[in-house]
Amino acid sequence: MLGMRVVRSEAELGAALKTARGARESLGFVPTMGALHAGHIALVERARGENEVCAASIFVNPLQFAPSEDLSAYPRTEEADLALLSAAGTDVVLIGRSEDLYPPGFATTVDVARVTEGGEGAQRPTHFRGVATVVAKLFGMFQPTRAYFGWKDMQQCCVIKRMVRDLSLSVTIVPCETVREADGLACSSRNRYLDREQRAKAPCIHRALCAARELFRAGERRHAAFERLVRSHLEPDFVVDYLEVRDEEDFARSADPVTGGRLVIAARLGRTRLLDNLPLAP
Ligand code: AMP
Repeated sequence: MLGMRVVRSEAELGAALKTARGARESLGFVPTMGALHAGHIALVERARGENEVCAASIFVNPLQFAPSEDLSAYPRTEEADLALLSAAGTDVVLIGRSEDLYPPGFATTVDVARVTEGGEGAQRPTHFRGVATVVAKLFGMFQPTRAYFGWKDMQQCCVIKRMVRDLSLSVTIVPCETVREADGLACSSRNRYLDREQRAKAPCIHRALCAARELFRAGERRHAAFERLVRSHLEPDFVVDYLEVRDEEDFARSADPVTGGRLVIAARLGRTRLLDNLPLAP
């Protein structure tokens, strides 16, 4: 296929996908909110490698932001995003617009129970309804064979996998490991909110999780021991929203003693919330 098709409406997307797919079977899809970084591009490259056609979307989804959150301030870097997607071999990209995705009369939302309890679901009560609804909508529009999501947003991966199973959607969810900066900080569109001093402190989150992983591998199983160790590694100006061990499948909170799963943390540094997690077992 020659060049990347950029479309800006559901109608245009249908035509572009038809041309791009032709008789080809598999379509890999990467939904994003733009402000793309190496983490997003790793998903695109994987989608490119595992499918005949590769598609992505850029849509800052208002449904998943609470009124108090950073919707209007969310970084928008369309030109750079398109250059990165094109270089990574994307065939079709949708730049979503609210008026088009949520036209007047739009009345359906998707609520996933249980998996959305605790974690981000507790901090941001309407967030996962917005995520599940837009992802269901995008799956309907793209009809992907496989869709790629980052473990960085662990609870989101669990919510999407649950939704796909419960609604018998015919797409395979492929979770991909977190891509990090050289100093260990998980790549995130929100990292650009950090000032120099905060940016220098932020990698202590990853160091803390790595230390906890070492402790697990050395035989420690008490939840409180992991919590103590992680907190001791964090710079004093971090405010921890939650720090828990959660199951990779259903995001269930781990019992004590801990048997495995991922250690998940959300912590604030100034006005920026940083999310990260690491699997404990090898
Ligand atoms: P976002 O644009 O923040 O909605 O993210 C789009 C997709 O990229 C989601 O599946 C994220 O989990 C994934 N993602 C974000 N950051 C990273 C990262 N550092 N490594 C891997 N995937 C990521």
